[in-house]
Amino acid sequence: CHESVLTGPIETTMCDFETIESVNEELFGNLSELVEKPFFRYFQVDLYRECPFWPDDGSCNDPGCAITTLDEKDVPEKWRAKALSKVDPSSIEARHSLPGCYYRDSDFCFLDDNTEGEYFDLRLVPERYTGYSGKDAHRVWRSIYEENCFGLSELNLMTGKSPAPISLPDTMIEVLHEDGQDSDPQCLEKRVYYKVISGLHASISTHICHEYLNQTTGEWHPNLDCFISRVASHPERLQYIYFDTILLLRAVARLGPYLSAFDYCSTGTHEDDAETLKSLTKVIDIAKHAGAFDETILFRGENANVLKEEFKTHFRNVTRIMDCVGCDKCRLWGKIQTTGIATALKILFELDEKALDPHTNSDLLQRSEVVALMNTLYRFSESLQAVEEFRTMWRALDQKE
Ligand code: FAD
Repeated sequence: CHESVLTGPIETTMCDFETIESVNEELFGNLSELVEKPFFRYFQVDLYRECPFWPDDGSCNDPGCAITTLDEKDVPEKWRAKALSKVDPSSIEARHSLPGCYYRDSDFCFLDDNTEGEYFDLRLVPERYTGYSGKDAHRVWRSIYEENCFGLSELNLMTGKSPAPISLPDTMIEVLHEDGQDSDPQCLEKRVYYKVISGLHASISTHICHEYLNQTTGEWHPNLDCFISRVASHPERLQYIYFDTILLLRAVARLGPYLSAFDYCSTGTHEDDAETLKSLTKVIDIAKHAGAFDETILFRGENANVLKEEFKTHFRNVTRIMDCVGCDKCRLWGKIQTTGIATALKILFELDEKALDPHTNSDLLQRSEVVALMNTLYRFSESLQAVEEFRTMWRALDQKE
């Protein structure tokens, strides 16, 4: 591990980050193949649930926000609503229900109950600039960061209390950040919460800047200024993209045997299924090498369980806040990625080796959780690829000057 010689806001010097960088091209290649497979590309979700926190969701009327659903007949038969409704209810762990969704005690997110919701072909919905912005988008981000106030949050879905007024100014987001990082040095979990969210935010911003629409020419192109101002000029945001990637990789590594035993069949041809497993095996191998996240240092000590429950409640609320995102495309990827991260958190903090054993616990994860986990990792890996491209643009600019 060596110190990076290049200077500028896009560089990073941490060893873990170097490990990720050294494997990311291979990781991205394999994930790109994986997410093309039917198992990983069709996702069912109810995109039109009511926002539980405020009355209007500030709908984005920009055509970039619109999304096309998939006719169910184009989805492999195995996952159509009719087939899913045949699942034996006694095989489902005890769960808490809200209209259209539920969570189990071990979950960090709300999941769709598969009775409503439509299918989307994720490969037809790139995460990129949509035009969704302004006070409505800020309100969503702000309320997500406000979930960082451990012990103070008013947003309590479990008790059905009315939502807290979302009235903090933007600058308050920074205060909350600092709060999460400095003033409470004991609370590592609070810092982890902040890093996870900030990393997700930075990854989404990276996608927006990488596939940016020039509204004058109508052309899509990487926008270096956008990336510098939103991400690279805040080096910690870039670091948190790596942080989330490492967290996701560690979860995939732990879940390796379970993922290898998962049923990917009947999704296409026999050849297709074999290829799915092959790409997946490569991703798991890379994850074992590069997923250096140490989950054992979290949720230890006296109040560990209380803290974990609180962390879980906050993260579940984040998955519900996604229903308040006023842009269909952004909401879809917001839901997938918060579910993907929540699945990783569950694997790391809730499940021991026995629970992860595919032979004793084959119903551990829903298909939607596996799909969300791998697509989220794909998105982060794609962000890191984009960062590489921005670095090249930055160097070229630097040499010119
Ligand atoms: P925002 O990104 O809205 O940030 C608001 C404030 O948060 C900033 O002023 C800053 O103080 C702080 N902040 C910014 N980044 C970070 C960070 N990484 N860590 C900590 N603090 C930070 N738009 C699209 O075009 N395409 C999408 O696919 C898309 N998906 C979205 C998904 C979700 C869940 C949400 C909530 C929004 C999405 N948006 C999307 C909107 C997008 O994220 C921005 O809100 C929008 O582009 C306006 O950006 P902005 O520069 O005003 O700042």
